[in-house]
Amino acid sequence: MAETNETSDLLTKLREGLNKGLRIVNIWSKEAYETLKIKNQIKKLRTKRRRNIEDVGNAVYRMYKHNNKFNEESLRSKCMDISSLEDEIEERQQELRVVHLNAQKELGSLKQLAKPIVVGRCECGADLYKGIKFCGKCFRKIEFS
Ligand SMILES: [Zn+2]
Repeated sequence: MAETNETSDLLTKLREGLNKGLRIVNIWSKEAYETLKIKNQIKKLRTKRRRNIEDVGNAVYRMYKHNNKFNEESLRSKCMDISSLEDEIEERQQELRVVHLNAQKELGSLKQLAKPIVVGRCECGADLYKGIKFCGKCFRKIEFS
């Protein structure tokens, strides 16, 4: 009878350990997926920004080459586009930091859950954790009163 209880105890512990492992992997893969998604968006925005800057350069040169007159209004609006692209990039980077922080927070609360609770001390000096039936050091059977 006692042996069956210990076996199911062990199975429960194993299952808990497996669940915790799966949850950690879940948190990691969710973070990796979201990070990749945002990084791809940032990459696209940066490419767009680079093209726009090139476009401004070309426009300035064309103005110089053809009529020597600078269309300030057109240049200003092109520059404003670039500036708002930069704002968007900054927003995405902020998002990246939030994704990372959230994953850290979730992992942290998981660790808190998994922390064994010390309920006493064995005669051999080892800490005794809640729910155990044997001392982990001297293997003495533990009976909590
Ligand atoms: Zn002991």
